[in-house]
Amino acid sequence: APQFAINDVLKDLNIESTNFGVSTGSDCFGSGEEIISKSPVDGAIIAKVSTATSDDYEKTVSTSLNAFKEWRNTPAPQRGEIVRQFGNKLRELKQPLGKLVSYEMGKSLQEGLGEVQEMIDICDFAVGLSRQLHGLTMHSERPGHRMYEQYHPLGVVGIISAFNFPVAVWAWNTALAWVCGDVCIWKPSEKTPLCAIACQKIAADVFKKNGLPEGISCLINGDYRVGEMLTTDTRVPLISATGSIRMGKIVAQAVGARLGKSLLELGGNNAIIVTPDADIKMTVIGAVFGAVGTAGQRCTSTRRLIIHESIYDKVKKALVDAYAQLRIGNPLDENNHVGPLIDSDAVESYLRALQNVVKEGGKILVHGDVLSGDGYESGCYVKPAIAEAEPEFKIVQEETFAPVLYLLKYSGEVDKAIDIQNNVAQGLSSAIMTNNLREAERFLSAAGSDCGIANVNIGTSGAEIGGAFGGEKETGGGRESGSDAWKVYMRRQTNTINYTTELPLAQGIKFDL
Ligand code: NAD
Repeated sequence: APQFAINDVLKDLNIESTNFGVSTGSDCFGSGEEIISKSPVDGAIIAKVSTATSDDYEKTVSTSLNAFKEWRNTPAPQRGEIVRQFGNKLRELKQPLGKLVSYEMGKSLQEGLGEVQEMIDICDFAVGLSRQLHGLTMHSERPGHRMYEQYHPLGVVGIISAFNFPVAVWAWNTALAWVCGDVCIWKPSEKTPLCAIACQKIAADVFKKNGLPEGISCLINGDYRVGEMLTTDTRVPLISATGSIRMGKIVAQAVGARLGKSLLELGGNNAIIVTPDADIKMTVIGAVFGAVGTAGQRCTSTRRLIIHESIYDKVKKALVDAYAQLRIGNPLDENNHVGPLIDSDAVESYLRALQNVVKEGGKILVHGDVLSGDGYESGCYVKPAIAEAEPEFKIVQEETFAPVLYLLKYSGEVDKAIDIQNNVAQGLSSAIMTNNLREAERFLSAAGSDCGIANVNIGTSGAEIGGAFGGEKETGGGRESGSDAWKVYMRRQTNTINYTTELPLAQGIKFDL
């Protein structure tokens, strides 16, 4: 049984057993069919949430368009002040929100709290950013002219998020979008509706206390059909979508068909290259955490290890030994390393992957299984598995969102390993374990890893908010969070001002009247 009373958590977060799933702030509504929030931890039904009908959606969009008119004229540092207050509220509610994330999604309590910490960190980042939304100034070729660029708010940002980061992904987007002067409409995963309601309530309180209008933060619960209302709406200039490649391809086409902007954060197939010069102890810690952390349900989870033949057996043995130590169980109990998968569909795809790797000629090294009995009643707990495979196996080329790790062998130079690592459709996170400077630099060079994230002597999993986060190829190309990722949430305008009494044309063109 969980070591906390879920009812206290829900009370702290102001959540009821039946909730309106649509909100523009203090105003909560939604008359669409209900979603049931079920915990993969113990299979309990936590609460019910109503969803958005097309009328509910219309009301939400028109409220947010109105709010945009006021919010875009609020000076950016003042918008930053609101985000600062929001971050402080998250600090106060870190414990209950982290617990709800853990209980509704199934990740460990430490990771649930870590997710809330990421929200706090991105708020701090955004507050500083609110005074740094810089454009450049350029020298005009015409005398008496000044030229510069500025960034203006874009409008309504539609945020579609995945179940596995039920709160942080929203905050990565909203904290930046808000300081940029945008208003947000969030379509969370239908698997984690309560986390979304909790976040929306926290934000709504802050906006209300500051006398700001309804509609700067909006929530529309529902499944892909509600997502489609956003993606096809020409009033929503930017769609930021996080989830599977399958979803990304549909969303990109819907948004592209109306020439909207999309920011896509899709699946990964992340590898660690282990060279003869790797520190084996660090490799094992990085690989095991990367493969089994969040039960393999991170976009940056380690899926493939590409190990040099000279140390292959040594690494293999160390991994098998480490897997034998893993404790699987209630993620709210900090003695456990591995919690449940999100639902029975996820369990199915885990089992299918294990069957397929054998069918294609792979060999299971650490056997997988679905656990049953005391503490495993939800049916979502599985044993992390390891299989020896070949890089070109179809199953190895796919992302299976579960704790299945493939061991691949390479021989010769590091370039061989880099080829294997790059030879997949996805391009999110990658890593090399080596103490050899030449290998590390080759991996980071233009001919090295083709991923959005490339690490040396760190695993693939997780990232800091200060850097731009995202990946190439089928991962979608979007960047969120730090660095200059904010620019996608704004529109750039080039301005030229003539302070003479003449009207000289560019490129020396004459037009005499
Ligand atoms: P999913 O694609 O099933 O769902 C993601 C979201 O998209 C949900 O809110 C869903 O309702 C919505 N959606 C689905 N079809 C849609 C459509 N046609 N139009 C509009 N919205 C639609 O993904 P999931 O199972 O929730 O999450 C797991 C996936 O997310 C994995 O592939 C993982 O790698 C990826 N992910 C990527 C990142 C990243 O930053 N790159 C982060 C987290 C998760």
